[in-house]
Amino acid sequence: MMNKNDTSTELARKLSCYGDNVFSIGVMRNYLSEKTHNSLAATMVRGEVIDPDIADEVAQAMKIWALEKGATHYTHWFQPLTGLTAEKHDSFLTPDDKGNTIACFSGSELTRSESDASNFPSGGLRATFEARGYTAWDPTSPAFIKETNGVAVLCIPSIFCGYHGEALDKKTPLLRSQHALAAQLKRMAHLFGLPDTGCAYATLGAEQEYFLIDREHYLARPDLRQTGRTLFGQRPPRHQQMEDHYFGHIHPRVLAFMDEADRILWKLGIPAKTRHNETAPGQFEIAPVFEELNLAIDHNMLTMQVLQEVAERHGLVCLMHEKPFAGINGSGKHNNWSPIGPDGKNWLKPGTTPHENAKFLATVCAIVAGVDTYADLLRATVASAGNDHRLGANEAPPATISIYLGDQLSDIIKQLQNGKAKSSKQAGLIEVGVSTIPRLPRDVTDRNRTSPLAFTVNKFEFRAVGSNQSCAGSNVAFNTITAWGIDLICSEIEKEQALGTDFNTALGKTLKDLFKKHQRVIFDGDNYSARWHKEAEERGLPCARTTPEALLALMSTKTLDLFKKYGVFTERELLSRYEIYLETYNKTIMIETSCALQIVRTMIVPAGLEYAETLATTLQTPPRVRLAKRVNDLIDTLLTAAEALEKAANSPNVPAAIKAMESARSAADELEGLIPAHLWPLPSYADMLCAG
Ligand code: ADP
Ligand code: MG
Repeated sequence: MMNKNDTSTELARKLSCYGDNVFSIGVMRNYLSEKTHNSLAATMVRGEVIDPDIADEVAQAMKIWALEKGATHYTHWFQPLTGLTAEKHDSFLTPDDKGNTIACFSGSELTRSESDASNFPSGGLRATFEARGYTAWDPTSPAFIKETNGVAVLCIPSIFCGYHGEALDKKTPLLRSQHALAAQLKRMAHLFGLPDTGCAYATLGAEQEYFLIDREHYLARPDLRQTGRTLFGQRPPRHQQMEDHYFGHIHPRVLAFMDEADRILWKLGIPAKTRHNETAPGQFEIAPVFEELNLAIDHNMLTMQVLQEVAERHGLVCLMHEKPFAGINGSGKHNNWSPIGPDGKNWLKPGTTPHENAKFLATVCAIVAGVDTYADLLRATVASAGNDHRLGANEAPPATISIYLGDQLSDIIKQLQNGKAKSSKQAGLIEVGVSTIPRLPRDVTDRNRTSPLAFTVNKFEFRAVGSNQSCAGSNVAFNTITAWGIDLICSEIEKEQALGTDFNTALGKTLKDLFKKHQRVIFDGDNYSARWHKEAEERGLPCARTTPEALLALMSTKTLDLFKKYGVFTERELLSRYEIYLETYNKTIMIETSCALQIVRTMIVPAGLEYAETLATTLQTPPRVRLAKRVNDLIDTLLTAAEALEKAANSPNVPAAIKAMESARSAADELEGLIPAHLWPLPSYADMLCAG
């Protein structure tokens, strides 16, 4: 085992800074009285309500620690509905009556702060007369020091809500959904005769994909700077056909970047574990060791920031957009989710005893039922203008949500529906006590890379989240629908038990019925195939192709009832989110439209005209005449597209804007292939995609 003070190896030396910038339970011990330390540790670990009497002492301790770390300011660090993080720094400075200043930080400053919320999206939740917003400390995620270019700031992870407690952020509903899930896991533990008083929660390991390009190229592309993606650009002859980038040799420049990023993340207590080249040229991935869900999401938000800051120091830019380059793979964020019951075990881990396996199958069943019933909601949580380019483009999961369980597990579930236990005594099969539940293989590790939601080993991997999105939304939904599924199973069993049925029989019957009812959402084949799209339709699975379509699920009575039942969203909160996400989508498309228009008119058309002029002087042969005609035709197409772009931008019309952007792009990309390279006004794909 490695000790933090052991510096005998390079890894030990690098890891000796692990968590240095975190006010963790361990660090607090040195700054707090034992009584306060124990009370705060209980809040942090078990999510117990914080004792207001200890706030002053904790604030004082945090201040001393932060000052020692070089911080002059603190901030409540929160996650508004922009999908980004927000911070407003206050210094510890307090003038005294003798004209001096002292460093102060009170318990109330730590736990709560009031700010003008009117510049954050609220979707009509806040009338101007109640523009106040409040941030409140979330003690389950430890405070940390963020260091940027030598400036250290104490960050206090916080929720953000309105005057009446309305959630204005991503964290509040997440914590509520963790609560709802915990309650149902405990209820099920009780029915299974397991310890039901421990903590129950979900964990998350978020794999983050991103691109790196040269900063110089980035600065020369108004589209990347304004919209995060290239609105024009011809795919180079060689891109990802050779499949030689994935897991390939990491370019020394990129490796230096990754190494620095890892060290900063480790200092922040973020367990960055895996780094590698991804499928597309210039694309990479970072994955941490999984953690408690709320903490993991804070850590993912921080990881995205750290990657962007470190890239800058290496003369690079880290692109988080879901589809920065047309025609090659985009970036996603794989959400690996699993539930930990109050018995301290992962309930998605097939166990060694019949009892454990019954619990495992019940958990899978709850998720299958939940996902089938609320597939449209899950789809809505990954809807964004950026992700629209990715979902369904045969590089990322399709817009239809289905579950992959693997052959063995699917087979067992089929047998379960038929009520027959598997008689085979094949090696590796585990006996399950419940008579109607067949044996389980110990390792159900098949792989399927095309499914939006795949069971892998002991977790569900939701692959539809966009690289630029917070994973909070998807996990709020996943927690809540799992809670719903468990609730359903428990209620059925309790009903049967009330009629005198024994537990095992009641469980077997419930699982059999539910698997039968929700079988249609399970699909183990190729999710990219045309056959599946057709079959999915026949099965009646919903498929929302665009963001506006997908977001409608947030408005349905079914969704509202679900969230209301488990106290995750009120009606106003949910509707406000619908409004905000739709508005964000519309604004994104309009920004892209204006940007495309500007580039066509001020960069591409002038370059085209310059070349056309040169060609006009050399029309001696038929091929030259044909070339000049092609160039001139493309310029005309671009000018017409520019008019359409202008019209769609002036009287905002999203579908017309998308159509005009497509036609401008196809003409521009063709022109790029005809114009002399030195005249083309934008860095090419080939130039940009070779950062590593
Ligand atoms: P993959 O083959 O998909 O890359 P890995 O085992 O490398 O799978 O895990 C990918 C991510 O899933 C990592 O962040 C890892 O920590 C996380 N993970 C692994 N096991 C679990 C689990 N039981 N619950 C949640 N996340 C997990
Ligand atoms: Mg994965």
